[in-house]
Amino acid sequence: AEAGTGTLLDGLDPDQRAAAEITDGPLLIIAGPGTGKTRTLTHRIAHLVTGRGVPPEQCLAITFTRRAAEEMRERLTALVPDQAPRVTVATFHSLGLQILREQHERAGLSPSFGIADHARQLAVATEVTGDEKEARRLLAALSRHRRTGEGGPEQAEFAERYGKALRGQDLVDFDDLIELPVAMLEADPELAAAYRDRFRWISVDEYQDVDERQYRLLRLLAPPDGNIAAIGDPDQAIYRFRGADVGFFLRFQEDFPGARTVQLTRNYRSAATIVTGALQVIAPASLVPGRVLRPVGAHGDARIGLHEAADEQAEAEFVARTIEQMIGGASFHALDSGRVDSDGAQGLGFSDFAVLYRTDRQARAVMDALTRAGLPFQKRSHDRLADRPGVEPLLAELAYADPAAGGASPDGASPDGAARPVLDRLRRAAQAVLDRTPEQERDQAAAEIHSAVELLRPLAERCGEDLDRFRTELALGVEVDTWDPRADRISLLTLHAAKGLEFPVVFVVGCEDGLLPLRQPGTAPEDLDEEQVREERRLLFVGMTRAQRHLYLSYAMQRTRHGAVRKTGRSPFLADLGRAVYERIGEPVRRRRKPRDVQLRLL
Ligand code: ATP
Ligand code: MG
Repeated sequence: AEAGTGTLLDGLDPDQRAAAEITDGPLLIIAGPGTGKTRTLTHRIAHLVTGRGVPPEQCLAITFTRRAAEEMRERLTALVPDQAPRVTVATFHSLGLQILREQHERAGLSPSFGIADHARQLAVATEVTGDEKEARRLLAALSRHRRTGEGGPEQAEFAERYGKALRGQDLVDFDDLIELPVAMLEADPELAAAYRDRFRWISVDEYQDVDERQYRLLRLLAPPDGNIAAIGDPDQAIYRFRGADVGFFLRFQEDFPGARTVQLTRNYRSAATIVTGALQVIAPASLVPGRVLRPVGAHGDARIGLHEAADEQAEAEFVARTIEQMIGGASFHALDSGRVDSDGAQGLGFSDFAVLYRTDRQARAVMDALTRAGLPFQKRSHDRLADRPGVEPLLAELAYADPAAGGASPDGASPDGAARPVLDRLRRAAQAVLDRTPEQERDQAAAEIHSAVELLRPLAERCGEDLDRFRTELALGVEVDTWDPRADRISLLTLHAAKGLEFPVVFVVGCEDGLLPLRQPGTAPEDLDEEQVREERRLLFVGMTRAQRHLYLSYAMQRTRHGAVRKTGRSPFLADLGRAVYERIGEPVRRRRKPRDVQLRLL
């Protein structure tokens, strides 16, 4: 095992290696983007189970998204194929689900309890309130209350009745997956001790974004002197609006006295200009005073490209044209500035490009321009599956047809019969929904339901005949995410979704006042509170630091938002970029003269 460990840790630099070798006691790894935090965490676990002989079953790795968990599992498998399957790699929600399945009786649930999707939540809430509109309102308020603590007695009262009703139908909802285990472990110290004994080595990636409930779960699982490694970057905290609190990261050493701290300072990801520019942007809001981040990768010396466009269509055209030219050979950027890029742009494929934006709506213009240019792309979607047209009735039908799996039919019978492939059942459910649709609406319904079935098909196929698994994964996935990191397509993502990822060429579009920082049209900059503005700045920092070789920041001088054309201007954050790190690409937009002036001239 020791020989294997040697090669395992050889892939790490001295700081990373030191972090990987501190295996006992609390450890905080605090480091900037691209410094190999995620890589170090993975190697550290591999080292634990080989070099230190820790039983893999005692290792728990927590990530924020299912995608990140899958990736960590893959990386671990590559490093330690024999032990990797025995390590628990989970998101907070999947960990909560595991605990809840094991302790179902304590929550008054059967072993095969279901997870309510949005449709089911609404149905249950409507039973409680007797009115659908009121149910929608209260559910939304409750969800806010559970995430942020906002709200009062009204929410608490509804929460209790709604929770009882859910449990009565053998259901939990998504938030319950963390709340119920926390309540259980808080109420029963012996149970908490048993789990502590089970997971004696815990690692958490992106710790800067934990929220209070997740934090409480962690505190229950890790004693103050426990083997917990928290990894993150306070300057990349971007989920405050969802209840995350970077304060938990900042007080790690109080919660876990005697914790050791390791800083990683080498940035392997990005070209020097990109690292410097990103640091200039974050400096006014940095939570890590005196941060050191030294670029050490060989990613060329291209400067950050700054582009001013007339409107969002022109901006999207710029993106499409630039990609076309870079794919074609030398970069547009280089051609434009009259010099040949030192690392060229040869060998770039579509998957090397990402377009990042603040709001999902901005994707429209980009998609149109890429389509016109014939460039393949994939957009990472954040819609909840249940909110997609056609999906809700389909899932409700499925729950009705098979009460054992997540829902109850009134007569308790199972008209559909069990253990048939999930895809078959979906198709039957689709047919049943269509049969009930009035004649005149059938064409439109058919199209919707067909696309819903297609959306669910990959998951259904993966689940074979296991309907329980299908429903669980749906409930855990919450979002439709058909984004495939391996597909040869340009990626379109929100800045939030780009967290943790990297691409050779990155465009951040819409670097405008009103989008970065984001505020509602009609409000003034002073309406934003300072903490909000700082979080927006961090978001741009996250976006910029996704880029390896080329980074383009663009903005439009006018943009259609909420149906009206509005004048905009460049983001105030760009003012912090030093002259040396960027170059302008293309001409500034000519300010349009008033028609009257033009006429005068013609005369
Ligand atoms: P983020 O804050 O964005 O999540 P991170 O700190 O988790 O970034 P990683 O994604 O782990 O960074 O690593 C960034 C890139 O640097 C990856 O491509 C990784 O393979 C590479 N890298 C990290 N450490 C080393 C190393 N010691 N030698 C070579 N490449 C490295
Ligand atoms: Mg990372």
